Amino acid sequence: MRTLLINCGPIVHLSSDDDVATRTVDNSVIEEGKAIIIEDGVIANIAPSQEVISEYGDNSGHHTIDVHGRAVIPGLIDAHAHLLWSGDRSQEVRWRLEGKTYRDISEMGGGIQSTVNATRASSSDELQKEGYVRLRSALRTGTTHMEVKSGYGLNTETELKLLEVASALSSDRNLPTLDPTWMGAHDTPKGMPHEAYIESLISEQLPSIVEQGIARSADVFCEPGWFSVEESEDILKESKSSGLDLRMHIDEFADSGGSQLAAELKVQTADHAYHTSLDDRLKMKAAGVITGFLPGTPYAMGDLWPNMSEIHKHEIPYTLATDFNPNCQTLSLPFMASLMVQRCKVQPLDALASMTVTAAKSSPHKNGVHGIIREGAIANLNILDSPHWESFSLKPSHTPFSATVLNGTFISH
Ligand SMILES: [Zn+2]
Repeated sequence: MRTLLINCGPIVHLSSDDDVATRTVDNSVIEEGKAIIIEDGVIANIAPSQEVISEYGDNSGHHTIDVHGRAVIPGLIDAHAHLLWSGDRSQEVRWRLEGKTYRDISEMGGGIQSTVNATRASSSDELQKEGYVRLRSALRTGTTHMEVKSGYGLNTETELKLLEVASALSSDRNLPTLDPTWMGAHDTPKGMPHEAYIESLISEQLPSIVEQGIARSADVFCEPGWFSVEESEDILKESKSSGLDLRMHIDEFADSGGSQLAAELKVQTADHAYHTSLDDRLKMKAAGVITGFLPGTPYAMGDLWPNMSEIHKHEIPYTLATDFNPNCQTLSLPFMASLMVQRCKVQPLDALASMTVTAAKSSPHKNGVHGIIREGAIANLNILDSPHWESFSLKPSHTPFSATVLNGTFISH
């Protein structure tokens, strides 16, 4: 099956260079008038529209779509999402605004344990239905691939169930593909001593997860009061020797040494990283660690934004992702881009690279190259509803896209 996207506006391909320092609009954007030829879910060629029209003419056997000069960007990659959980904690917003602390809310029956209880009580079918609805919503705002963490089960049975559901959703051709991460070390379940839980993570949960064979990576919530640097190191080293890639949540609440461990272990990505010192940012950069910024969390919880001018000045490689979770219920990467572009003076091209080409390094696609538009890459694309590609970052309240191409399939919004 061949699809021709003719009369494209500017195409932001991002394929020439992933270096923050050398990336420019000139070397990242092809001027308007090109066509993209898609065969069997892969970009087969990019050529002038007139040439493609005269070569293929009116032959049947292919699907021609006139893009009418609208801009085209790669499919978006959400490199950090807690997609699967049940329950609804919306009432907690009132308690937080009344000044209740995390502990108060937990004692009132809220907090993560209430999500854990609801998630444990849900069947696989129920979780799959919730996941389906969320992924269709993410697809509408241009997400074609998502890193998805377990972590609301906090016991072996439910963690396995969450990864099983992620695997089932990922095989649905109408949904974004998923990159599953085991995050049993998200919190300690109520009623279990912390040390005993760590012991069960290493001796029971991890071997079961590895035997199940779905998770690609392991992630740990490394913060004082959750998992210390030493505990995180034990869990991550065991995970690494069991064949999993490593990810971390660090420095969301305090600069507590997680970034140094991230650099030491050369983890794939260390996320939140709000309180991380510049020194440690540079250590992570030297170790090849990507930093994941999650603007939805400060937006939802009222915290501060990271200092993005410092990040750019020191050319720190970073992704922008949603951190979708019960307290931060957005799956829209264009909204994340808007927060960065319209609130933190991030250039639209840098915001776009952080959720495409750089995010592809943090969350690779098992079938090939994604996050860029070039011959041989997976045909994951977004067609704007504007001739200006920058508009992807300027419409936070609705989708900026008229259509998405997902694994070569054209989906009109
Ligand atoms: Zn997270």
